[in-house]
Amino acid sequence: TEESFARIAKLDESVQAFLSTNEAEALAQAEALDQQPLEGRGPLFGLPIGLKDNIVTKGITTTGASKMLANFVPVYDATVVEKLKEAGMVIVGKLNMDEFAMGSTTETSAFKKTYNPWNLDHVPGGSSGGSAAAVAAGEVPFALGSDTGGSVRQPAAFCGVVGMKPTYGRVSRFGLIAYASSLDQVGTITQNVEDNAMLLQAIAGLDPKDSMTSPQEVPDYKAALTGDVKGLKIGVPKEYLGEGVSDEVKKAVQEALQTLESLGAEWEEISLPHLHYAAEAYYVIATSEATSNLARFDGIRYGYSAEGVHDLDELYARSRAEGFGREVKKRILFGTYALGAEHHKDVFVKAQKVRTLIAQDFAQAFEKYDVIIGPSSATTAYKIGETNKDPLALYANDVLTVPVNLAGVPAISVPCGFADGLPVGLQIIGKHFDEATLYKVAHAFE
Ligand code: GLN
Repeated sequence: TEESFARIAKLDESVQAFLSTNEAEALAQAEALDQQPLEGRGPLFGLPIGLKDNIVTKGITTTGASKMLANFVPVYDATVVEKLKEAGMVIVGKLNMDEFAMGSTTETSAFKKTYNPWNLDHVPGGSSGGSAAAVAAGEVPFALGSDTGGSVRQPAAFCGVVGMKPTYGRVSRFGLIAYASSLDQVGTITQNVEDNAMLLQAIAGLDPKDSMTSPQEVPDYKAALTGDVKGLKIGVPKEYLGEGVSDEVKKAVQEALQTLESLGAEWEEISLPHLHYAAEAYYVIATSEATSNLARFDGIRYGYSAEGVHDLDELYARSRAEGFGREVKKRILFGTYALGAEHHKDVFVKAQKVRTLIAQDFAQAFEKYDVIIGPSSATTAYKIGETNKDPLALYANDVLTVPVNLAGVPAISVPCGFADGLPVGLQIIGKHFDEATLYKVAHAFE
């Protein structure tokens, strides 16, 4: 824990991954843990961790990187935080992100930008950009993020670290500030696969406070790290190496496939034909759910409340106008449009149908293949400010990550090389609740 704070003191002025740190309490907690008997300590005991600032922490300000929650101090812990504490982990601070997890660069944060530790002219990705940057910079060995449409995998890829988006229902969402409830999952970000497996082990499992969590037993993920991928069947969707994917990224992915082949795995080109519509379907569904979830920020119950108002309507309107940033407002408007009586059938219902088709594409592929492999992102990390000019192109870039959330399957991003000095991430997608195989494959060529 001391090491973590020393590293933060040294590097965070330039990386800007943390929104807040928790030094006094964290050191006291670490001290107290030192007094506990060696017996019964798990593998994560006493180790420091940083949390994306949309995961609620009792007594520690939790902002979702929004002005709306700038002064919000939760009175309870998210289930994942309770589990980390049970494992003896020490929370060193809260990490920057896109406001309410809406974005792909961490630039929509209401408070500050975070910089990619590999090259400070570039973004760390998003929305869990602070989590990925902090792990890449060695400020913390472990971090949690959240992934609604790629927000753990894409920043992990951009920062050269390991990021897992578990199966929908594998990890409790209780205490995760909701963006799109049918897509959101808490994910794990670490420097290597073994750490990631241990961290997921600690936070996964049934939670009576999240009715969507599964009663399926959590397997021993570490036991899966055998390095043996002989006979493994890999499907490589041609859509994942098609138009828009940079040549260097393609090359790094092809090399990774060759490595897996040399270890005895077999791969074949496949097609996920409905992938073309994934980004559109995702943005309709995610913004519709966000519109509903963000209705709770009304200026009354908690969070930002406008001053000097004359009536209730003005309180709602001004609190939301002043508390939400531009990207969030845009998405609330779009979601409201998609759900409106006149458009609902043509927009929302259609998107749900596309979602089913995409889930069927995956189900069909998994009848024949153990995993599906492609890049986590079509390019390496964007330059700071670069994507502001074309927000629609930025949305379209999510096409390689959002299908996984729409289908509810797990996927991991693991570093597979560099292009122009920036890391490239390999995305390995698995069957529902088969995170163990993803760890096995990721570990094999680490
Ligand atoms: N970039 C996507 C979005 O802006 C994904 C975000 C996420 O996974 N939270 O919605």
